[in-house]
Formats: sequence, C-alpha cells, structure tokens
Amino acid sequence: MITRRKFITKSSLLASALTIPSTLMSFTALDKESENQIFDVIIIGGSYAGLSAAMALGRSLRKVLLVDSGLPCNRQTPHSHNFITQDGEKPKNIANKAKAQVLNYQTVSFYEDIASKVTRSGKVFQLTTQTGRTFLTGKILFATGLRDLMPPIPGFSDCWAISILHCPYCHGYEVKNEKTGILGNGNLAFHYAQLVSNLSNRLTIFTDGKATFSEEQHQLIHRNKIRIVEQKVLAIQHQQGKLSGILLKDGSIHQLNALYARPPFEQHCKIPLELGCELTEQGLLKIDNLQQTNIPGIYACGDNSAFRSIATAVSAGSQAGAAINMALSTEKFNLK
Ligand SMILES: Cc1cc2nc3c(=O)[nH]c(=O)nc-3n(C[C@H](O)[C@H](O)[C@H](O)COP(=O)(O)OP(=O)(O)OC[C@H]3O[C@@H](n4cnc5c(N)ncnc54)[C@H](O)[C@@H]3O)c2cc1C
Repeated sequence: MITRRKFITKSSLLASALTIPSTLMSFTALDKESENQIFDVIIIGGSYAGLSAAMALGRSLRKVLLVDSGLPCNRQTPHSHNFITQDGEKPKNIANKAKAQVLNYQTVSFYEDIASKVTRSGKVFQLTTQTGRTFLTGKILFATGLRDLMPPIPGFSDCWAISILHCPYCHGYEVKNEKTGILGNGNLAFHYAQLVSNLSNRLTIFTDGKATFSEEQHQLIHRNKIRIVEQKVLAIQHQQGKLSGILLKDGSIHQLNALYARPPFEQHCKIPLELGCELTEQGLLKIDNLQQTNIPGIYACGDNSAFRSIATAVSAGSQAGAAINMALSTEKFNLK
C-alpha cells in the first residue's frame, strides 16, 4: 500500500532525519512501506516540468513519486514573467500552487531529497536517494533542469537573475529603454543585439576580448548604432544584485542598468548520463516526440531537453505524463 501523509506531527522528526529544515518539508511524505512498492513512475525533479507531468499521471490514477531537491534554476529571480495567469508572480509561489494542486491527487507523493543513483534490473529501476532511501519503478522521468555555470567575474553571480538577464522574453520588458549591455561575442552577442535592440536603443556589446563578429555582423551592429567594447571585463558593480556599472581592464566604468548574458550550463542531474542517455550538441538530453530518451523506460522533460521557459517546461511535462501513461496503458492492455 502506498502511504501518503501530511507532515503535521512527524515533520520535525523526518526533517532531522533528512537534514532538511522542517519548514521546507511541506505537503507529503512516504513511510517505510513505500520502499517495497513499485511505483508506476518516479519523477526526479519536482519543479514546473515534473509537477506538470505528475498532474497528468495523477489524474490517470498512476502511482507517482516525485523526488525533488528544491533548487530550480530561476530561484534567484524576484519575479517571473511571460507565463499566462502567473505574470509577475514569484517563481516559488507558482511552484507551490502547482504542488498543492498536484498533491490533491491521492496517488501522487512528493519527497524532498536528492536522487543520487539509479540502477536497472530487467524492467525495474531502483532509485537511491542521498539520505539512503530506495524506491522502485518501471518508468523514470527526469525533470531535473539545468545548472547555469557562473563566470568568475566578481559581482556576476550576485546580479544573476536580478539585473543580469538571460532572456528578453522573461525580463526584457522590465528594463525596456534602459542603459543595457550585452556580455558576449560572435553569433551569440549578435543574436542578442538583434533581439534586444527592439527593447532599448541604448545598447553596448562587451566582448571581453577581441570581437569575433563577421564583417557583415560588424556593419549591421554599427548601422544599428550599437557600441562594441573589446576591453576585458574585470567586475560587475552593483548593490544587492542591482547592477550600476561594468568595470573594464583599462579602469573605465560603463554605467548600466541591465546586462544580458548567457553563461554555459550543464545538466543539473548527472544520473541520465550515467544510465547512457545521449546528449544533443547543445548539451540537452536527446528525446523523441514522446519525450523518451534513447534508453527505453527513461523519459525527460523541461529545461534538461528543451527551450527554457516555464510555459515550455509545463507543456513538455504534460506531454511526458501523457506519453508515459499511454505506454503503461498499452503494456497492460496488450497483456490480456
Ligand atoms: C534566472 C532565470 C530566470 C528565469 N525567468 C523566467 C521567467 O521569468 N519566465 C519563464 O517563463 N521562464 C523563466 N526562466 C526559465 C524557467 O525558470 C525554466 O524554463 C524552468 O524553471 C524549467 O523548469 P524545469 O522543471 O525543467 O527545471 P527547474 O525549474 O530548474 O527544476 C528542476 C528541479 O529538479 C531538481 N533536481 C535536479 N536534480 C535533482 C536530483 N538529482 N534529485 C532531486 N531533484 C533534482 C531541482 O532541485 C529542481 O527543483 C528563467 C530561468 C532562469 C535561469
């Protein structure tokens, strides 16, 4: 029997066992008996993509375990935009509302822990968490997102998601017409220049070294009256994440209110790679049109395998949930 309880009386006890503050341990937990259950689906990652998949699966009466370590990529951003019905909302509030709705479905459980290992025996996967719990399932869905790797520029990580922005659709409107910089070079910076010039005509590109634009790109940037600064970037000046300027190697300071940058990223969770899941050239998990990876029974959705936005993550999660449910339904139906 799957046990699914509210953390009311046992929360602090369980919290100390998991070394997670009891305030974080809202919603539901599992008791020891669930370690002997085979879940229909274990979803690793309980943010927008994972919760969306759990909604589709819970509504299909599937026994689902969500395991989440509570570190979504947008956690530092004060307000989230461009997701209808939730525009301007705090990212955590969107996830909490989704979590509460998903956990209305009795067959879905949520467990706060880090998934540390998955092994396979025949058609059954065994998940082991950092706190040593083990769970079994026939299908596994990675909704684990990406981890952005902050460059070693002082001040960059403090401003990340507050005034250093990666996405004009998410945060560009809020800094429209402001003194805006683009930190990047070559095709990436050119792409940003095309996109952001629609939001502000006070644009400077900081290439942090010799510019690598093609002749045509150079001319277009020039014609659009965008400055290119090739000096090395030494530091980002800011107050509590709100940037005021960018300090260059020659000692000059360029005043700015917003800076676009796209730091490199890696898969937040390495387990799919350990299991043999392939990556695309961009470093995303390779999936088919049913969200399945190259390994049968292993699915992926959200940022780890697609364009980054909450709307896209929710859509991919919903598709993954439906695809997994269809696979489970077909397997059972065809056995009769
Ligand atoms: C700074 C920033 C601001 C953004 N602002 C916006 C915005 O305004 N509007 C918008 O539409 N989009 C925005 N985005 C994009 C949006 O946040 C992502 O597209 C969305 O969060 C992706 O959802 P996801 O569920 O795929 O991944 P995430 O939200 O990143 O969640 C992944 C979850 O998996 C968990 N996890 C990872 N590994 C493990 C593991 N081993 N065990 C257990 N759990 C694990 C993590 O803790 C996390 O909770 C922003 C992104 C960034 C980086």
